[in-house]
Amino acid sequence: MSVKVCVLASGSKGNCTYITDGVTRILIDAGISCRKIEEGLAPLGAKLTNIDAVLLTHEHIDHVYGLHTLAKKYDMPILANSRTAVSVDVKMHTDIARKQKDNFDTGFRVGTADIFPFRVSHDAACPVGYVLTLGGHKVAYCTDLGHITDSVRNNVSGCDVVILESNHDLHMLETGPYPPELQARIKSDVGHLSNEQCAAFAAELALSGARQIVLAHLSEQNNTPSLALKAVQNALEQSGASASIVVAKQNAAVGVEL
Ligand SMILES: [Zn+2]
Ligand SMILES: [Zn+2]
Repeated sequence: MSVKVCVLASGSKGNCTYITDGVTRILIDAGISCRKIEEGLAPLGAKLTNIDAVLLTHEHIDHVYGLHTLAKKYDMPILANSRTAVSVDVKMHTDIARKQKDNFDTGFRVGTADIFPFRVSHDAACPVGYVLTLGGHKVAYCTDLGHITDSVRNNVSGCDVVILESNHDLHMLETGPYPPELQARIKSDVGHLSNEQCAAFAAELALSGARQIVLAHLSEQNNTPSLALKAVQNALEQSGASASIVVAKQNAAVGVEL
């Protein structure tokens, strides 16, 4: 079996990723409108009515923007840990907290996919990344990371496909338009991953077997796709590892297949 991963949108204006083994169809986050999700799914032969579950990473608006409409119009499970679910309900006027799984934190199954959430360091109630095992492959999703913790390293190492944050170029951030407080928040241990931090971890992942790495959640203000790509390519060259690298986009879908 194969696995297809398509990042429908990625960045501070909205995040949504589609993952399927051809049998089970999963979305991670719904940070864009339902209309945009439908538009992204259509070329992939999918639609919102046949999504098996939506997994949420955390309650920031760029990850839950479309959720109010999605929860109202469709009845697929919307899954999150309890603290995230409560925060989403308060923020988006949804009612997902009382419909959560008891075994969310220790892992669960949706169709043919085994799903395991893991904690990440970010300034939200209880943010997570995910490892999905499906179609004979392991796919990791980890964006909105202040830094690479042992939890991230232990869970993501050994995955075939990794969607990994490469948020900002440090020089662009420090010389750009953001006020000092916002720069400090982004650079902090509960903010976002820089290109250099991403590149060093991407090289580790390539050495541990990652074949496809999707660079995600790039800042439109403080990064460029070519800077993010160059940082990872340099790190891979220095480590002697190889992997296919693509950059996700804010306004267009980017897919990989294994
Ligand atoms: Zn966030
Ligand atoms: Zn985000």
